[in-house]
Amino acid sequence: MNDQVDPVIIIGGGQSGLAAARAALDVGLRPVVLHSGATPVGSWPDYYDSLTLFSPARYSTLPGMPFDGDPDRYPHRDEVVDYLRRYADALDVEMRTRTRVIAVRPGRGGGYLVSTDTGGDLPAVGVVAATGSFGNPYLPTLSGQSEYGGAVRHVAHYRRPETYDGKRVVVVGAGNSAVQVAYELTAHARVTLATREPVRFLPQRIRGRDLHHWLRVTGADRLPRPVITRLVRHATVLDTGRYQDAITSGELPRRQMFTRFTVDGVVWSDGTTEAVDAVIFATGYRPNLDYLAPLGALDQGLPRQVGGISTTHPGLVYLGLEFQRSFASNTLRGVGRDAAHVLAALAARVDRRPRLSRLARPTASSVEGSTPPVHVDRATDGAGG
Ligand SMILES: Cc1cc2nc3c(=O)[nH]c(=O)nc-3n(C[C@H](O)[C@H](O)[C@H](O)COP(=O)(O)OP(=O)(O)OC[C@H]3O[C@@H](n4cnc5c(N)ncnc54)[C@H](O)[C@@H]3O)c2cc1C
Repeated sequence: MNDQVDPVIIIGGGQSGLAAARAALDVGLRPVVLHSGATPVGSWPDYYDSLTLFSPARYSTLPGMPFDGDPDRYPHRDEVVDYLRRYADALDVEMRTRTRVIAVRPGRGGGYLVSTDTGGDLPAVGVVAATGSFGNPYLPTLSGQSEYGGAVRHVAHYRRPETYDGKRVVVVGAGNSAVQVAYELTAHARVTLATREPVRFLPQRIRGRDLHHWLRVTGADRLPRPVITRLVRHATVLDTGRYQDAITSGELPRRQMFTRFTVDGVVWSDGTTEAVDAVIFATGYRPNLDYLAPLGALDQGLPRQVGGISTTHPGLVYLGLEFQRSFASNTLRGVGRDAAHVLAALAARVDRRPRLSRLARPTASSVEGSTPPVHVDRATDGAGG
């Protein structure tokens, strides 16, 4: 490898950053991953304790490395953390942990300069923004909220139901997190799920197979964004039947979203008031990209991009955005495909300076069939950490 070539800097060491690193190697670019956390396992350790994947292990992998064990089980959060740790180890690319990117600016020769909180500017031929959204939870502001004396939390900060033992809690939202968290709280607290519209469910299993099997065989998982955003207009909750039963039976009461806060509770849409100890908003996330503001790559915090490729800055690409290219973009199973796409675009842009030639790896699509396990060379050429 030629060390004169600046690396592609990948910002964020989660599944998106790891998939990007692998795809960079595949196209002969030298990746350097900058990650604010202690280990390159993304936000998974911070998700709530009971979380299991919504897809079976066989449909939840990054390119080139299957999950160990029964492919039909739904791995627990901690297994995902372990999987990502092993994936990062196997990649053997340079990763700088505890390194937060604070700004990206134009650099020499059409490249970039990446500034970190550890000091110094790193030159890059291209930048992959893969910092997820978990660091930027969206919390709406409702009338009366500032006077409310109870706890207002985003679900990003929820870990376990025991915290709410004996409390009166309202969970706001109609997506997976809202319903899962509200459901598990029913054994510990008096809970109401508050939504604007009735909760919509997707069956976890259809004709004896997990939904993700059908998403794959029908091609729905790969439908392009314009199609999918027309089809999926509302939040949906994956369900084996227990959440729907709980709501229908009243075990988990659902009410129309409250209209405002009072000093000690909420006003429901029918005008009744109720004292509430805590309100947990499961109202989603926004891309976490502040470090791109100096570049002018954002529009009100959102990336100006098509399919993960910046429309304002050649050589800047994104990974892990919701519906970036398909329904599966922001998932373990889908991010590898997007990574191959955006890194190929990046490689095409980088001039024909000498690049890595030793790397011929299984592609994302081959992994979905019967791919051999990832087998990553231990780099001795300057790309290793
Ligand atoms: C509760 C929950 C459950 C989910 N369940 C599933 C599921 O079952 N299956 C599935 O496929 N997907 C699931 N997802 C969606 C998605 O797969 C995860 O959110 C996943 O963590 C996204 O990976 P990422 O790498 O894009 O972002 P992250 O995992 O958030 O990783 C990005 C990393 O970048 C780092 N970072 C942030 N800013 C900077 C900076 N300025 N400089 C350097 N580093 C930075 C952060 O520390 C973070 O660790 C779930 C999401 C949530 C929130």
